[in-house]
Amino acid sequence: MPRSEPIKAVRGVRDILPRDRPLWRATERAAAEVATRFAYQEIVTAIIERAELIERVGEDTDAVAKELYRFEDRGGRKLALRPEATAGVVRAYFEGGLNQGPQPARLYLFGPMFRYDRPQKGRYRQFFQYDIEAIGSTSPALDAEVIEIAAGWLRESGISDLRLELNSIGDNVCRPAYLELLREHYRPFKDQLHGDCQRRLETNPLRLLDCKVPQCQPFKADAPRITDHLCGPCSEAWDAVRGLLDAAGIEYSHNPYLVRGLDYYTRTVFEFYPAGATGQQDALASGGRYDGLAEAEGWPSTPGVGFAGGFDRVVEIMAASGVEVIAAPAADVAVLADAGLELAAAEVARICRRVRSVAVDYEPKSLAAKMRSADKLGARWVVLLSGDEAPRRVARLRDMASGEQAEVEWDQLPERLA
Ligand code: AMP
Repeated sequence: MPRSEPIKAVRGVRDILPRDRPLWRATERAAAEVATRFAYQEIVTAIIERAELIERVGEDTDAVAKELYRFEDRGGRKLALRPEATAGVVRAYFEGGLNQGPQPARLYLFGPMFRYDRPQKGRYRQFFQYDIEAIGSTSPALDAEVIEIAAGWLRESGISDLRLELNSIGDNVCRPAYLELLREHYRPFKDQLHGDCQRRLETNPLRLLDCKVPQCQPFKADAPRITDHLCGPCSEAWDAVRGLLDAAGIEYSHNPYLVRGLDYYTRTVFEFYPAGATGQQDALASGGRYDGLAEAEGWPSTPGVGFAGGFDRVVEIMAASGVEVIAAPAADVAVLADAGLELAAAEVARICRRVRSVAVDYEPKSLAAKMRSADKLGARWVVLLSGDEAPRRVARLRDMASGEQAEVEWDQLPERLA
């Protein structure tokens, strides 16, 4: 059937074009370098997972159901495109036997994540995360370590004006009693809360604290703070993390309203924002401890801590703040040959590629047009081949900056281009 409209990309999904890749590559390189310096090893996990893995551990069940790209494969298996990396990394830690190796396992991952959310600037349906996980230790020093990695990555991506928000949400020893205090605080105002918060009051009271709806704000200020109600071990960890951050020279502010909505999150939670940001939408990275996650997935209870950073947002900030990355030219050398000399051109290109990136112009067009294309590629040199020179295995080498041109034997080209 003939189509009148070309087929366009899926809504909320972007292509990263070659002209944008240098900034992406710069922040990816910073991420890999910082991770490697801290002895984290790269892991690549599946993009498709059993839907159950995500649904069992997903944030605030409604939201996960609404945002999850869920589908059945041809065999009727219920699958999902991963919305975040941690669930899969923890699965792979056990399935791949990393739990038998040195502990904690220090892992990092780059990759696309998928959420069916309403697309807007900084929020896409396919986006890319940098994920750091330290699995197999309860040491609060690792909480500080992953924060230091996030800070290092953002700084080395050229984003130095940052705000780090920090909180502790306790654990299953101290949190239940605190949640009761929180309910007691909010119950007298129940009728004045918005619908979701009225429901959260009984099901998930911690989420009352990060509600952004104006009518719910007045009741926050006097709400009890969980950091005043931590058990001994959580309190020690809270002190230790802050002490380690101070020693590392990493500034933070305590945000008592920074929480996570699920029981398997414990103790440290943190978020990095660009200094001027106000909305939660602007977070560049967020993370924390998830000592109950492995068990929620059905594995032996195993602690972990980590963060996810968003490459899309980091690249947008790098671009907006004028971070400059010197982009390599598409080709160092352009080989231009007369028609009929494709074999010779391919051979000359192969010789030049020992030392340089080379593009051959095979298009049937005039020499002048080929020179313009070579210029657009950013080529530093052009190698010109003509019908009378090729049999003698010589070519003309032109330096595009100076315009100087010289006859060179093919086999001498690598030396001249080095
Ligand atoms: P989260 O996994 O929701 O804690 O998000 C971690 C980071 O991933 C955020 O701080 C963002 O930088 C990034 N991120 C999350 N969702 C999206 C999205 N829909 N589009 C682009 N970046 C996102």
